[in-house]
Parts: sequence; C-alpha cells; structure tokens
Amino acid sequence: MILHEVEVRGHVVDVRVTDGVVAEVGPGLRPRPDDEVVEGRGGALIPGLHDHHLHLRALAAARASVSCRHGLDGLRQAPGDRVRGVLFAGSVDRHELDRVEPSRPVRVQHRSGALWMLNSAALAELEPLPHLPGVERDGDGRPTGRLWRLDDLLRGTWPSTGDLDAVSRELASYGITGVTDATPDLTEEPPVPQRVTLLGRRKLLLHDHDLPDVDALAAAVRERHAEGLPVAVHCVTRDSLLLTLAVLDEVGRLPGDRIEHGAVIPEPSALAGLHVVTQPGFLADRGDDYARDVDAEDLPHLYPYAGLLAAGIDVLPSSDAPYGPLDPWEVMRAAAGRTLVPRERVPVATVLEGYLRDGDLRPRSVVAGTAADLVLLHVPLAEALRAPDRSAVRATWIGGLRH
Ligand SMILES: [Zn+2]
Repeated sequence: MILHEVEVRGHVVDVRVTDGVVAEVGPGLRPRPDDEVVEGRGGALIPGLHDHHLHLRALAAARASVSCRHGLDGLRQAPGDRVRGVLFAGSVDRHELDRVEPSRPVRVQHRSGALWMLNSAALAELEPLPHLPGVERDGDGRPTGRLWRLDDLLRGTWPSTGDLDAVSRELASYGITGVTDATPDLTEEPPVPQRVTLLGRRKLLLHDHDLPDVDALAAAVRERHAEGLPVAVHCVTRDSLLLTLAVLDEVGRLPGDRIEHGAVIPEPSALAGLHVVTQPGFLADRGDDYARDVDAEDLPHLYPYAGLLAAGIDVLPSSDAPYGPLDPWEVMRAAAGRTLVPRERVPVATVLEGYLRDGDLRPRSVVAGTAADLVLLHVPLAEALRAPDRSAVRATWIGGLRH
C-alpha cells in the first residue's frame, strides 16, 4: 500500500506499507503493480493512539447496558430477562431497586466501579451469599443489595454481555490502535485487533475506604519488584497516594512504576521517577460534581497535569473507560480547556504526544521499520490540534490492516 501525499512531521511525503510494516517514508514513491494507493490529500499521518488505562471487557459490557447517568428509570424499559445498569452516581438498596423493577434481576454499577447494587431478584440468584466484608447487611443480617468491590464474586454468574468487536471498531474510529487494560490480575488478552498491554499483577488496587497498612502494601510491591515487575498503584485519594509514596520510599522505586489516576496530588515533586496515568476526561464528565463534592483542600490538587510536567514527572493520558469518556479527542479537549484548576491545562499537542507512546511508554513516530499502526487524518496536524475532534480521523490501520 502507498499512502500518497500525507503529512508526516510537517512534511508532505509518501509512505509505503509492506507486510504490516512501514517500509519507506519519502517523496515520490512509486506504487508497485499490486499496491493499493490511498490519496492522503495532505492530511496528517500519525502513529495510532494508545489509551494507557482502560478496561476492555467492562467497556463492552457497559456498551450493552442501560446508562443510569441520569437516573434509574431506563431500567424498566430495558429488554431482556436480566437488566444491567452502569454509570449510576447514587446509592440505592434492594428495596429501592425493587420499586423500579420488582420481577427481573437487576444489577446496577456505581460509576466509580467500586459498588454494585442488586434488587431482590438479583440477590436471590446469588444466595447463599458468603459472609464477606464487601456484602453490606442490615440490622437483621440480611444483605441490603450493596456489594462493594465484589467483581470477583459476580464474575461469571451472568451470561457474559457485550461485544468486543463493536468496542474494537469504536476504538479504531477514534484512531486507537493500542490499549493498556488495567483490570487487576487479568492474564488473558481480550481478543481485539488492537495491541493490548496487560497490567495484570502489576496493578495494585487500593480500597480507598479501607487502605492496607504500610507493611501489607510494602510486601505486595516487594513481591512484584523481585519479579522485575514495576507496579501500577491505584490512587484516587490523598491518603492512598501518601501511603503509596511512603511504601515506595521504603521499598525503592523501579523504573516503570506508575500511579494510576493520581486524582489528588498535593506535591508533584514527591513523585520523582514515577509515571502518572491521568484521566482529564473525568473533569469534563464530572467537573460539576467535583466542584461540589471534593474537599476544599483537595480541589486545587485535582487531576494535575501541567504541574506534574513542570516538576519533571512523566504523565500519560488515558480514559479509564468505561468509567471515564473513551474518546481521546474529548480527553484532549478536557485537558486543554478544563475550567477546574485551569492552571493545570496543557496544550492539546502534549496530550496527543502521550497517546502516541506505546504500552511500554516508548515514543513512536511514522518511520521505516515500525509496525504500520497508523491513523490518517482529514487535515494537517496543526489544524486537528486547533479543534481536536474525532471527526478528524479518516482511517485507522493496525499492522497494515484497515479497521
Ligand atoms: Zn481503571
């Protein structure tokens, strides 16, 4: 394949792709007899984007679920024998859910991903429920329907929902050719054409309302480091970050150690040597809630980006989809135009640069010898950066195959 007259790093050139690899970049390349020729018309050709933190299977399931962003009413009209709701911002017990849907089993996930709320029919399917700390019970010892951090218990108990092919197509429509799946302990790559990096055992999920003690977390970090695995620690509160930093001071830092989310970072310089995987999309999606609900002393330190870069900390953008918006162009707009703590704004180009690094955080560019994971834009890059929008994406190739 020849990509004819595409803009690569500011120059209009041709790009030859052979056997899934960028073979040549330069002006005036001659198509061979069976070469497909794609007219670039001066549009930018960039490496495919890599989302550094999301959850593929949860995303597929969420796309096949009822959005409860604006309440629970949609559950009643949903088709099927069972009803799954996602992105609910409130907290309800089984009695409240029974009033919405008394007969079919209903499960509703809180938008944080930490809490499932079940109606009585859905609870009955799980009886007898084990006595686990995450199973909330009322004064009489009966489950309230709230299950905290019990994805393991629920996994496999309903027929799997969701369509990974559809998720893959959606990713490609944004120009995403690689993802890091941050689901803890995930060992099997979800089957999508995108390049998948698994955090797996590297991911340490801290329960923000029930933090482990220093020794327990230190032991977990030591174990991974001894295997040569840098850790990726989930930190969405000030306390979880301070705990993690104390542990990393004690254990030592391994190149590649990451802070996932970094939702509250009061002192960027304390993170020297770490990578922060941030989600500016949450600011667009939930900014009003944050302004209302986040502690006044935490608010100025919410999802920092520019301040981290200024302190020399490496920052990678991501979506945390399905919990945050998946569209990377929306994430770029959110990072560049945030109204919450505007001093943390960063240029769109800076966010895009982060998306252009691979799952091992190495920068990528369109040069001969690299995998043909490519995105062709309708317009030159400077124009796409002025008004970032998914509509700029014209075509996406993964390993030379168009998706
Ligand atoms: Zn996540």
